Amino acid sequence: MSASTVPPLPTLARDAHIHHVMQALSQIPAGMISLDSSRMLIIFYCVSTLDLLGALEEKTTPAQRDVWRTWIWEQYVAGPFGTAFKPGTSMNDSTPHLITTYAALLSLAALRDDFSRLNRPGVLAFLRACQKSDGSFASTPPVAHNTPQYTLADADMRNVYCAFCICSLLGEPAWRGIDVEKAVEFIGRCRTYEGGYGQLPGCEAQGGTTYLAIACLRMAPLRHSPEPEPRLSAQARAHTEHWLVHNQDAASGGFRGRTGKPPDSCYCFWAGAALQILEAQDKIDAHALTSFIAHCQFAYGGIAKAPGGFPDPYHTYLALAAAALYTTHLPPTSRVYASAAGWTLAPFDALLSGGAA
Ligand SMILES: [Zn+2]
Repeated sequence: MSASTVPPLPTLARDAHIHHVMQALSQIPAGMISLDSSRMLIIFYCVSTLDLLGALEEKTTPAQRDVWRTWIWEQYVAGPFGTAFKPGTSMNDSTPHLITTYAALLSLAALRDDFSRLNRPGVLAFLRACQKSDGSFASTPPVAHNTPQYTLADADMRNVYCAFCICSLLGEPAWRGIDVEKAVEFIGRCRTYEGGYGQLPGCEAQGGTTYLAIACLRMAPLRHSPEPEPRLSAQARAHTEHWLVHNQDAASGGFRGRTGKPPDSCYCFWAGAALQILEAQDKIDAHALTSFIAHCQFAYGGIAKAPGGFPDPYHTYLALAAAALYTTHLPPTSRVYASAAGWTLAPFDALLSGGAA
């Protein structure tokens, strides 16, 4: 699409989106209605959405932010496996969890916590306890598996991504605490003939897990043998780029998660962020992507997976994150339209802030 013919973008419904995530945050911690392990992720999506919209300090009080920080730290526990965050306060939520720990640390970072209460060696011990002999990570350490609801079956790409993000957050020495080469080999086994990555070896390639794999390969410290070696060959990288680019739907501008599926706003992030990490962001139509996201906005706030759908904090966060990554790559004319329509978002870290698909 040439810049001179692009249609104007619908306005970013900033206040309505703020309302949508504040509504979800108001359930935590006082509500405690839906006691499920995704609660920490919901806090992460909501707080990070406010951050992207530049609204965290403007729309929340120091007392509110303090309540959220306090609730997150209340989930921080120590055990024989080290220290980590558990999903919540009920009995079923009492085992610390890798994805929860990732979401807790990123939420605390967004809430400008100083991490003075974090026991770094304890978190590293937890990561080490979660790593399996095939290099993958389980969400809970085997030592904690004394209750039937926890199994090692959930060792997958999401957990590898969360472990790698936590190592990045903890700093360089953390990488020496896990077996990076084994984890990278596991990621390699999840690669498919299409050039994308599946959740486990033998699974179909999917946009979300492809992002997780590409982000992990970028975060992993380089292997020196004897020169630093890139984690992906030029050929493998071109193949992955091609598959990701090909998943942009020509008609709507949105991205499909898998070959043959309908476009979905969260995949605008997964594919879009993976392409940014691969430095191939100029290979897609950024205006069409932003326009698709703008049309996924729900009339009363929040963003849905597709135009006309109902919103949720997950799609709201990921769609805005994709917009933050691509509004800075728009051609000049559409950049003018985008800023006139309010599509100005905070700078965004494509590597660490993906959440877990
Ligand atoms: Zn989706």
